[in-house]
Amino acid sequence: MLPQYSLIIPVYNEEATLLELYRRVSTVMNQLDGFSELILINDGSGDRSLELMRELRLNDSRVCYLSLARNFGHQIAVTAGLNMARGEAVIILDADLQDPPELIPNLIERWRQGYQVVYAQRTQRRKENWFKRLTAYGFYRILKRLADVEIPTDTGDFCLLDRRVVDVLNAMPERNRYLRGLRSWVGFKQIAVYFERDPRFAGEVKYTFRKSFSLAVNGLVSFSKVPLRLATYLGLLSALVALIMMILVVYWRFFAPQSPLTGIATITVAIFFLGAVQLLCIGILGEYVGRIYEEVKGRPLYTFSEINGWEEQ
Ligand code: UDP
Ligand code: MG
Repeated sequence: MLPQYSLIIPVYNEEATLLELYRRVSTVMNQLDGFSELILINDGSGDRSLELMRELRLNDSRVCYLSLARNFGHQIAVTAGLNMARGEAVIILDADLQDPPELIPNLIERWRQGYQVVYAQRTQRRKENWFKRLTAYGFYRILKRLADVEIPTDTGDFCLLDRRVVDVLNAMPERNRYLRGLRSWVGFKQIAVYFERDPRFAGEVKYTFRKSFSLAVNGLVSFSKVPLRLATYLGLLSALVALIMMILVVYWRFFAPQSPLTGIATITVAIFFLGAVQLLCIGILGEYVGRIYEEVKGRPLYTFSEINGWEEQ
């Protein structure tokens, strides 16, 4: 019997939260109006997460798990889950209970009303530090201005996707997967459901600053070509500065013998300024070229070492 609902949860070193997660998620699953499966993706955890998954699977056949052969990152882990999901509606949530499973019935209600993408939008982040809140706040607003598609602010990966949307996402070959962007890109009828984001249940944040930063760059570069234009703008700005300087130099030469524009210092500053502008532009170009390289290599998105729950296929 194919499940009506698939719940996808990426797991990276979450031994401290898994049992509580299962307790809360299975309570919700029991109350749903259709049969559901729980897909746990082990993203190369180094702790007891995988053993716990095996135990959960033994006690509850609705639990299926896929263990990636190393840590591939959150977005790839979710992608793997999307590939494996069999349900008519697919729900993605985090393992750390920051996305409350109790909201799932609300998402499903909207789906029943005919929406193909129901994303959870946070109205508040509780107890996350000011730096994370500030950078997240800034990033989502910059992305909104620059991106080619309308990507809603303050939404994470917590959402419900209709089977048709999942099929479209699975058919997308790209390797740099910024799922929140792709989810907007596909179109269909979309709607937000609001919630307050709880603090992490237990354990460390797995998204280090570096991972968050690289996710942010990925989002920007994947969905906007505006940064490339920055080179043009900076070039125009330097040209303007140069023009003003030329006029000033001629003026000082003839009318102000005590020119303020002499000496090594002036030249040094000018050289550093131009060097910075050029390196910055090469860097931006590099971000795009690097992504082209990633795409043309055409490697598989992930490899996995253990799979349990898909035997009957
Ligand atoms: N995660 C993952 N692979 C990683 C990092 C994180 O699968 O390399 C999972 C993690 O187990 C959790 C979710 O992604 O279920 C979100 O991670 P986290 O809570 O650390 O991020 P935040 O809530 O701060 O965005
Ligand atoms: Mg979290």
